Amino acid sequence: MNILVTGGAGYIGSIVTEELVKRGDRVVVFDNLYYGHRSAVHPQAAFVQGDLADADAVKAVFGVYDVEAVMHFASYTLVGESMEKPFMYVGDNVTNGLNLLRAAVERGVRRFILSSTANLFDDPARMPIDEEERIVPGSPYGESKRILERVLYWLDRVHGFRYAALRYFNAAGASPTGERGEDHDPETHLIPLVLQVALGQREAITIFGDDYPTRDGTCVRDYVHVSDLAQAHILALDALDEGSRTYNLGNGQGFTVKEVIETCRQVTGHPIPAKVGARRPGDPATLIASSDKIRRELGWQPKYPDLNTIVEHAWAWHRTHPHGYED
Ligand code: UDP
Repeated sequence: MNILVTGGAGYIGSIVTEELVKRGDRVVVFDNLYYGHRSAVHPQAAFVQGDLADADAVKAVFGVYDVEAVMHFASYTLVGESMEKPFMYVGDNVTNGLNLLRAAVERGVRRFILSSTANLFDDPARMPIDEEERIVPGSPYGESKRILERVLYWLDRVHGFRYAALRYFNAAGASPTGERGEDHDPETHLIPLVLQVALGQREAITIFGDDYPTRDGTCVRDYVHVSDLAQAHILALDALDEGSRTYNLGNGQGFTVKEVIETCRQVTGHPIPAKVGARRPGDPATLIASSDKIRRELGWQPKYPDLNTIVEHAWAWHRTHPHGYED
């Protein structure tokens, strides 16, 4: 299939692109390279540098590459930033997504996969969180994804658009090939920051609060290997013709911040000093996904469910790429 991957130079998009290319799909990556890296794009994928805000550029890609399906990763993704700059999120994330959707509809493309988020669940009644949970966005970031999910729902009703909304919990790890991994600037995610301490690039990791109602007082998150996320995209793509669908994606197992740091100590052999700081605004105590639905419906089975392996792969990437992609 000819697949347009927006944000295919970013962390998750580049690893999904790698998997798509490996199985023989033809991929065109569309990325503005604000946050993405040109060298993260698999060499067998076509690359177009462009911005989703430029509706004509988006339309042109559909024509030139005869696109049959879209995977939409390109997005602003930081909860904290969205609390300071809401228009970037409920504004740009949404209008950029609409430009892409409009181009797809106009070209008759009916297959679409949206990167969505656990930030839709700010006030969960049950843990782990399944797809029946009430949607309460925790930030303008979460709101932008809710809006796009709703637009997809209506495009399905009106145009027979087939979509999958995949709500990631904490994407982590790196490609097992060691070729692609996490390289954000600024880095805000726990595992890469902890590994920067092991690399000597940072003196200590700050734990954002240790007075949460959890087993050791630090926040619990569900870390899911990025390659397992990639497989979920491929399964969802292959199932689209049978109907639209929405899945929560995680391991179903939570780890505290302290447990993550301890695992990183074991994997790296570095003492990794940690200090306790203030809570980060907007952080819920616990977020764990129930992924029973995608396991049941699509047979998704995480290949790397344990935290040790996730951290080992992340460490292999960071150790060999201490300054990321360097482009
Ligand atoms: N965290 C932390 N120190 C850091 C970065 C993150 O204690 O320097 C915590 C954060 O409060 C959250 C967990 O680690 O509970 C995972 O944070 P991350 O930003 O990786 O992902 P999020 O859960 O926000 O999507």
